[in-house]
Amino acid sequence: MSDTDRLDPGSMARAFREARRRGMDVEPAVLFHDLGRMRARIGRIGAAFPPGALHTVAIKANPLVEVLRAAVDCGAGLEAASLEEVKLSLAAGCPPDRIVYDSPAKSRADIAEALRLGVRINADNLDELGRIDELVGHGGAASRIGLRINPQVGASSIALTSVADRRSKFGVPLEQADAVRAAFARYAWLAGLHVHVGSQGCALSQLIDGIGRVEALRQELRRAMGPLAAGTMDIGGGLPVAYRSTDRPPALEDYAAALRREVPTLFEEGTTLITEFGRWIQAGCGFAVSRVEYVKKDSAGRTAILHLGADFLLRRAYHPDDWHHDFMALDPEAEPKGGPLSPCTLGGPLCFGGDVLARELAFPELSPGDLVLIRDTGAYTLSMWSRHCSRGIPAVLGVDADDLRVLRERELPEDVVAFWSRGRGRP
Ligand SMILES: *Cc1c(COP(=O)(O)O)cnc(C)c1O
Repeated sequence: MSDTDRLDPGSMARAFREARRRGMDVEPAVLFHDLGRMRARIGRIGAAFPPGALHTVAIKANPLVEVLRAAVDCGAGLEAASLEEVKLSLAAGCPPDRIVYDSPAKSRADIAEALRLGVRINADNLDELGRIDELVGHGGAASRIGLRINPQVGASSIALTSVADRRSKFGVPLEQADAVRAAFARYAWLAGLHVHVGSQGCALSQLIDGIGRVEALRQELRRAMGPLAAGTMDIGGGLPVAYRSTDRPPALEDYAAALRREVPTLFEEGTTLITEFGRWIQAGCGFAVSRVEYVKKDSAGRTAILHLGADFLLRRAYHPDDWHHDFMALDPEAEPKGGPLSPCTLGGPLCFGGDVLARELAFPELSPGDLVLIRDTGAYTLSMWSRHCSRGIPAVLGVDADDLRVLRERELPEDVVAFWSRGRGRP
């Protein structure tokens, strides 16, 4: 079974029309996040894994507090890639014991604050364990602490987002298992292991292989140290999603079934299983609409200038072959545009030549005032917003069945001035 489930373009265009009818802030561009779909994805994860598991949503895929709050309200925890994301989790109402703090660069002050707050921590390396040990005496008993292992299963097909190749900067390499055993013997507070292999560009077999290797190490630790040791196993995020109608990513339920088959101890009683899905939950929940501001024609073809570009779709602008998005032409009333197709380049609003979202796309004729719909923008887009050229982030609207609400107001020029200004008035 493969997971080809995507929001249909008709419902996206309808949401835009409804937002405009209600006088919401949709010009010249607007971002949407479908909260109902997000809840359904979180529900599917809960149903596929054992009932006691903790399912966190990776904040770095989409850090909007209102999005995180909706996830927490339906039972998810949150995975934080920085102390700032820990604070976002708290702002979203997440209880500390459902927050997992992962970062390769935690300072002593970061660790002390995380221990004070009582959030879960995954240490990235052995030196970090030493720092934690110096601090746990000072009231850190409420934190559950794991250790990230790099399973060294090789790079994904997308080099820049690979995290589990032999020399990845993340985790303790599995080849140093002796040092991991020594760490568990030394630090009584060490509660489990953590692994994250990646999502887009990763084969199912690679994800399962990586998790299987780290789980084998955890079982070995438990055999050596007793059944109460290393009780927590955090299997990270993962799973690619469909960005094209022809993509056939694995279904979540097949992934869980394969894990149950290949790594059965994950599903045993006595194991606290944690997941950290980001892209799989969020990518397909997002879509964006921009007005076409100008259409330039020359002997080689047409270029439509949009209000979203490399500021919003950073990965797409720099690595278009790795990061696909589907684009759809709508007329000024947000109805699908028909007519003959001809090559069209979609240019972004920034003052640099690389700010192009699509080159020579087969597209209907466009005029100023038409709209372009961008699909599958819910993960690693807004969270990577680029301040280059200092354009404000458009309003983000939440779609919740038939309802629409503001998740984040549009940034005004004065907000951007404040961003680039000296500070918040501290002496
Ligand atoms: C980015 C990240 C995730 C989420 O990854 P996806 O590919 O979005 O599922 C989970 N855990 C860690 C440690 C990460 O760095």
